[in-house]
Amino acid sequence: MGNDAPKLYELIWRRAVASQMADAIIESTTVIVDSQIQNSKFKIQNKRDNYRLRASGSVLVFEGFLKANPQALDDKKLPEFKVSESLNLLNINAEKHETPPPPRYNEASLIKTLEEKGIGRPSTYAMIISTIEERQYVERDPSTGSGQRLTPTPVGIAVNDFLVKYFSTIDDIPFTAEMEDELDNIAHGKREWVPVIAQFYKPFEKTVEKVKEDAKRVKIEVEKTDEKCPECKSNLVVRIGRFGKFISCGSFPKCKFSKPFVEKTGLKCPKDAGEIIVKKTRKGRKFFGCSNYPACDYATWKLESMKKTLV
Ligand SMILES: [Zn+2]
Ligand SMILES: [Zn+2]
Repeated sequence: MGNDAPKLYELIWRRAVASQMADAIIESTTVIVDSQIQNSKFKIQNKRDNYRLRASGSVLVFEGFLKANPQALDDKKLPEFKVSESLNLLNINAEKHETPPPPRYNEASLIKTLEEKGIGRPSTYAMIISTIEERQYVERDPSTGSGQRLTPTPVGIAVNDFLVKYFSTIDDIPFTAEMEDELDNIAHGKREWVPVIAQFYKPFEKTVEKVKEDAKRVKIEVEKTDEKCPECKSNLVVRIGRFGKFISCGSFPKCKFSKPFVEKTGLKCPKDAGEIIVKKTRKGRKFFGCSNYPACDYATWKLESMKKTLV
């Protein structure tokens, strides 16, 4: 628990106390201004004659429970207005406003979304996430928060585009959710599996045959490196294969040079000052080891524990 226990206690305490306190009173004012364009001093696109403008302000009159549960609640003050007052247009400012894209999913938010859409079941969520990771459709982006955001790889994007283009009828959300319900019904003995699968499989089989004939091979973007191929001097690129990333010659298939992809950590081995690189166990668990393996057998699960031994 560490530091979390006192924080959690304080949160519960504040909520409990706040729930017994009086309401906060906030005075809010909305001013509506109906305008008419009379002269053409201001150029407005899609010119209309009337515009309705709205401004809202709010002032905290009585703190109430907010005293125990402080949150940033800034007063937004409006100038004095009188009803039916007439106003002059002084200026028009054009302001650019962009809505930021929603953040990338992390494991928890992805599962929450799957749950909302009725896709997957508690027993399959872990499987779904490990599958998209094993197939290299997503990567954990170390630059995001605690590095837990899942970012699609070029392979993931290509697979998604391919499915949307050719399999939109089975790739969509309602289909998947309905199929999951049907599978539940089979599991509960309410439905026979043969007719359910037949209903899905017959049209699906036809689609697969058609896609096999029509679809073009998908070209997946490769990541270029500055390194030159030792055999033909082309630039080396990072490709994604069945076992993950590997370095290959940019002029493949003419040149067949390839070598393993090494993810460096920038840290030195405490035993022999070799380079610490990211490795994976046979089961796919990540660990950190020395690049001089097998001459040096230094390895650790966590970089933090290694940094401690260095100090
Ligand atoms: Zn080459
Ligand atoms: Zn070493």
